[in-house]
Amino acid sequence: MNRFYVTPDVFEKEVVTISGDDYKHLSKVLRLKEGEVIEVLNNNGLKALGEIIQIGDDGADVKLLEREEVKTENPYHVSLFQSYPKGSKLETVCQKMTENGVNTIIPFYSKRSVVKPSRKEFKKIDRLKKVVKSAGEQSGRGIIPTVESPVDFKTVLSKLSDYDLVLVAYESETGQTLKKTLNSLKHKPERIAIIIGPEGGFDPIEIEALKQNGAEIVSLGKRILRTETAGMVLLSQLNFFYE
Ligand code: SAM
Repeated sequence: MNRFYVTPDVFEKEVVTISGDDYKHLSKVLRLKEGEVIEVLNNNGLKALGEIIQIGDDGADVKLLEREEVKTENPYHVSLFQSYPKGSKLETVCQKMTENGVNTIIPFYSKRSVVKPSRKEFKKIDRLKKVVKSAGEQSGRGIIPTVESPVDFKTVLSKLSDYDLVLVAYESETGQTLKKTLNSLKHKPERIAIIIGPEGGFDPIEIEALKQNGAEIVSLGKRILRTETAGMVLLSQLNFFYE
């Protein structure tokens, strides 16, 4: 099923127009025809099947059928704090975490991050937003995750009080597994932060600071995962535990 997002106000209409890049994708890449059915989502938890009634030169009119709730969101809000990885790995992280139900992605610079703060990295955010929107359409997400501009480690620490569970995946942790941590919780978390280190790993001083700010340090097993794999493993284990 091909899916497209429109804004909530557009979604209210009987007939919506798919335009811009989405129109190009619909008409030139997917080559959809009048009479075909697509799924339209309002990026606010609702979707509807829609019949393409007209494909014009710069927009496609779609008649919306019955509206219904999207049931693909996790029962908790998840923010991923991802230490800024090298190359295009952050695109992989954005794509896979979107498929796994993440809500917010916040790149950050840690002590051993190879990538240092630069305007170039800030400019990449627009590209990452496109990756997340496309992964949201492919996976049928009710709400497209947000991608924030990179922050420093101090800012990460200052944000942790916004969450009722902070999970730091630490490669040198041997005893405390994610399962043990989740089993020890007295209540089901509603707002979860996942924190993943860079290719060079976390500095023990960073781990100490995270602990001071209420973070739970967990192992993801005996093998060392790539930085772009670890968040996905943690979130899918979390979903398995709670779903
Ligand atoms: N340089 C580190 C080393 O060789 O020990 C490896 C860092 S790993 C490539 C990148 C990040 O993924 C880590 O900082 C951690 O957040 C996460 N990670 C990878 N494997 C993990 C594991 N077995 N347990 C917990 N976290 C892990």
